[in-house]
Amino acid sequence: MNADLQDVIALDTHDEALKKLDEQLAAAKALRPDAEQAVRDAEAALAQIKQEIRDALAESGRLNRDVNSYEQRKRGAHRALEMGSVDEDTADRQVAQVTEILDRLETEQLENMELQEALDDTLGARKGQLADAEQTLEEARAVAPPEIDRLQGLRDAEQGRRDATAAEVRRDLMIQYDLVRKRRKRAITFLDKDKACTSCMTMPPPGMIADARRGAVMVACKACRRWIVP
Ligand SMILES: [Zn+2]
Repeated sequence: MNADLQDVIALDTHDEALKKLDEQLAAAKALRPDAEQAVRDAEAALAQIKQEIRDALAESGRLNRDVNSYEQRKRGAHRALEMGSVDEDTADRQVAQVTEILDRLETEQLENMELQEALDDTLGARKGQLADAEQTLEEARAVAPPEIDRLQGLRDAEQGRRDATAAEVRRDLMIQYDLVRKRRKRAITFLDKDKACTSCMTMPPPGMIADARRGAVMVACKACRRWIVP
């Protein structure tokens, strides 16, 4: 095989391996930020439900105070009636009005108690979610660094081999190689059983394929510019 083509194949193989390792490294590094974000989300959800519980308790206190104050008014109206200090119609109207308000307040108190029960259930669920997220983070912390170290080690070794190969390659070929990789992602292509370029599916002329097979020169696909590995 053509010596330049052998260099290009070696470079392309190293660069593909580096690309794959970079993807794996990115995935391994993303593991921890994801888990940390999940813990922050769970903490925020827990804080929110705690605030809702505080609001419901404050509302309960307000309702209790209102009930006490209207019950006092109701007793006052009854007392005034007994003492004959107001006329009966006025006292009856006041009592009826206050009773209606008290009925409404009692309904609100019941609704508030139901809300508090539901919030307590949600609080339990959110505490569980936070515990799960913290556990996931702990596991990710235990697993991620060795995995990142391992991948980084593989990557460093691959980069070393790539650099050693690149040092042996002619400068003009190196420039061409980088250009093709940049534009086409891969620098090399193959021929399928019908002798079509496997990258762009065009059919190189038979003379070109014969040249590639003889190996005297490197031959690039005319359509996609990748070098043909015969
Ligand atoms: Zn092609």
